Amino acid sequence: MPNPLYDALLHPHQGSDRPFLILKTGERLSYGDFLAMTARFAHALRAAGIEVGDRVALQAAKSPQALAIYAACVAAGAVFLPLNTAYTASEVEYFVTDAQAKLLICDPVAAATLAPVAKAAGAALATLDAAGGGSFAAAADGKPGHFDPAERGPDDLAAFLYTSGTTGRSKGAMLTQDNLLSNAQVLVDYWRFSADDVLLHALPIFHTHGLFVATNVMLLSGGAMIFLPRLDVDDLIAGLPGATAMMGVPTFYTRLLADPRLTRDLVAHMRLFISGSAPLLAETHTAFEARTGKRILERYGMTEINMGTSNPYDGERRAGTVGFPLPGTQLRVCDPETGKALAQGEIGVIEVRGPNVFKGYWNMPEKTRAEFRDDGFFITGDLGTIDADGYVTIVGRAKDLIISGGYNIYPKEIELVLDEQKGVAESAVIGVPHPDLGEGVVGVVTARAGIAIDEQALLAGLGDRLARFKQPRRIVIVDELPRNTMGKVQKNVLRERYATIFA
Ligand code: ATP
Ligand code: MG
Repeated sequence: MPNPLYDALLHPHQGSDRPFLILKTGERLSYGDFLAMTARFAHALRAAGIEVGDRVALQAAKSPQALAIYAACVAAGAVFLPLNTAYTASEVEYFVTDAQAKLLICDPVAAATLAPVAKAAGAALATLDAAGGGSFAAAADGKPGHFDPAERGPDDLAAFLYTSGTTGRSKGAMLTQDNLLSNAQVLVDYWRFSADDVLLHALPIFHTHGLFVATNVMLLSGGAMIFLPRLDVDDLIAGLPGATAMMGVPTFYTRLLADPRLTRDLVAHMRLFISGSAPLLAETHTAFEARTGKRILERYGMTEINMGTSNPYDGERRAGTVGFPLPGTQLRVCDPETGKALAQGEIGVIEVRGPNVFKGYWNMPEKTRAEFRDDGFFITGDLGTIDADGYVTIVGRAKDLIISGGYNIYPKEIELVLDEQKGVAESAVIGVPHPDLGEGVVGVVTARAGIAIDEQALLAGLGDRLARFKQPRRIVIVDELPRNTMGKVQKNVLRERYATIFA
């Protein structure tokens, strides 16, 4: 029976003894063994009462078994719902209830706390620990190593993936089999992945980057993954010699650059370094090239659209840009108010259409309607511009746009200038309530190690770089910018923190 995702990503590996996962311990799991585990888990899902279309929530440490639960959901036709391991019980309660999950699989340590949560939500509870043990794994023990996949069509749901919650409450993006498969096919081709590749994988597997981008690309190409539990620079340095490619968030690159062991020799054999999920500073791009001779390939995507743009494999990887719309994806920049397409070079909201674009937000029909244009384009909420060569640049999120004294101010423009100031390591620019201006501009900056910076000197340095109305009224110096697991700066946290700075 057809099941497009299973047929393309999993079935071809049946019985294969090629390596799929290489663990930190050096242990290897072959594709064939992963498929057999997937089959046992799919039987265990059925035994737990999971039918086609049911939601299965997973909050567990990254492990081959956790990944096999995703694969088992594909096989069983269940909708996979991965949850950030940092979520508290009350957050998990929201997701499990909102998604009406039938089964919640969690770490045994959290089981006592989550038992009432699961019960209230009407979900069964099972456990999976970091070593792959627990009641779910036990239930799968002795089950057959073969499972007949459930029949699914391209438009059937494969996953509910909740957005990162950077700008507000997370929304459940309904992703179909074809959303995931079409994107994986495009990416394997665009980034030239093959069975000879070994991907250094230190991303979490509850987010689109580590789960769908990395894992689906590797399953489709047949390559292996060095599967690390988390970002740890020692592990990255140890893993690089055995890898051919790495996918990371910008933090991976700044951490590597801060380590003297990152040398040209260490990565000379590497075919590809990819960055995404948060903006990569042009400076990081340049510094990485200067140190290693490799140009990072930056791409842009979202939970809702999978990957939407990428810098080219062969052509110029332009720092500070996210490249071109991927084949099959249409992208335009529009006036946020009227939805009218803007001329090349103008800044507006990025809209995307294609097989990669999700079905809608679960349980939020109004929000879904509001975020789609009549012609099927999804309004991403990211502001950007397209240059004369077609490269897309993200200038920030519409929600972060500052309107001060009636002028639109794009935080990125000011951040770029602040970052160039002597002693500044990085910056985030926000707008907060201001009695005269509506919103007043605040710069939040961190200092480079060993350099003292001060507000007055920084403010004075902006005079000839930025029009008066764009200049921050206040600059706050902090030790660190607040970031979430994917390395995204949490501007809502900053806005709250400095809400009364002009009061
Ligand atoms: P929420 O929608 O809940 O506020 P989120 O948008 O951060 O959270 P994700 O779907 O994980 O959740 O992230 C997608 C967003 O990440 C994009 O909309 C964009 O703002 C940002 N992003 C991804 N890749 C890049 C990139 N290369 N450069 C700049 N921003 C990026
Ligand atoms: Mg978002």
